[in-house]
Amino acid sequence: MKLIDDYAPIVGEDVIHHIREISAPLRGLKVVHVNSTKIGGGVAEILDRIVPLMMELGIEARWEVIKGEEKFYECTKSFHNVLQGKYVPISDLLLRAYELTNQENAEALRSVLEEADMVFVHDPQPLPLLKWTPKRRGKWLWRCHIDLSHPYRPIWKYLREFATGYDASIFSLADFAQPLPHTQYLVPPSIDPLSDKNIELTPRDIRETQDQFDIDPDRPIILQVSRFDRFKDPIGVIRAFRLAKRFSPGLQLVLAGGGASDDPEGGIVLKEVREEANNDPDIRILVLPPDAHRSINALQRGANFIIQKSIKEGFGLTVTEGLWKAKPVIGGDTGGIRLQIIDHHTGFLVSTPEGAALRIRYLLRQPGKAQEMALKGKEFVRQNFLITRHLREYLSLMVALLHGDEDRVEFQM
Ligand code: UDP
Repeated sequence: MKLIDDYAPIVGEDVIHHIREISAPLRGLKVVHVNSTKIGGGVAEILDRIVPLMMELGIEARWEVIKGEEKFYECTKSFHNVLQGKYVPISDLLLRAYELTNQENAEALRSVLEEADMVFVHDPQPLPLLKWTPKRRGKWLWRCHIDLSHPYRPIWKYLREFATGYDASIFSLADFAQPLPHTQYLVPPSIDPLSDKNIELTPRDIRETQDQFDIDPDRPIILQVSRFDRFKDPIGVIRAFRLAKRFSPGLQLVLAGGGASDDPEGGIVLKEVREEANNDPDIRILVLPPDAHRSINALQRGANFIIQKSIKEGFGLTVTEGLWKAKPVIGGDTGGIRLQIIDHHTGFLVSTPEGAALRIRYLLRQPGKAQEMALKGKEFVRQNFLITRHLREYLSLMVALLHGDEDRVEFQM
């Protein structure tokens, strides 16, 4: 496990010093993070790092994962879709499974949740836990990672009822915040530069992974790493690739993904992707195990360009990962990707396969400009989207929540 001091060479001593100072009053605090999957997807990726760091700072942090049956995940996947603006019907039966699963999990976690000083509930899956924990003594925060900018109203209204009892909520960006009767914080996610996913690798490591997956290192490679999810638009990526290939015949596309245990739709989307790829020898579709962090790291480092052509995206850690590896990144013009890609500066924002293909062509023809953008992107991530900034913001808001208004000094301009 990495120690907080190991981040000093990357982010500076002052940042580490500040983290230690803010965390001092939080030592011994019982903090619980709850989500619905241990592996797969951005939330698990973050918790896997932020919980040990909190522990290292003396906070009694733990991570609990709620368990459910098929109907529960079917329901929460539908929530994910409708909250991000894609309507699908959700039956009363599914809603009942959702509530019942939360009630059962609240019972199973009863003592942990009641005794916690602070509970971070991640995303809609475990949101109703609070309702079934009437004797809680700590502060509860709802940490919403998804794009809530245009939710399907009836379902948001239903979920909002569960959210109103919380002491605060956290969104990744201002566009996603919704009217709620408590304080809302804006905290973008982050990546860990020292994790297997992001640590420096040798050219040999990269080459080995490319050989393993039969990728030709001598031809340009464009890569999208994503769960097989329609919001990630893997079909649009294949279309962009086909257009780009017209002017760069040697181009290869790698679509690397796997499932998250709370995402039942992955298999269906993967099938659609395979059909669209139609056995094209220049398209590699890699289904990776959930712990393939080093392989993903090597694929990202070995790629010439990273694409994340999402049509909805809460944040897009894969964009951050690509930028951090100083790769030119083409991202969908949506949600959290907009926070990371400053168009023409730290990467390119696109809305269509045609737009993506044009950007690929530009990057292939302008390697100097591509390199300049990539370096700017890396610096942008260093300043804004590393785990140390994330941790510091969580610690600050924990201090703020625990102390309420009593120690607050208001300045008037
Ligand atoms: N990821 C992974 N294996 C996969 C697909 C994705 O490890 O097969 C990782 C990816 O590298 C990133 C995270 O899962 O760290 C995905 O986060 P993102 O915010 O991009 O999307 P989400 O899946 O949370 O919608």
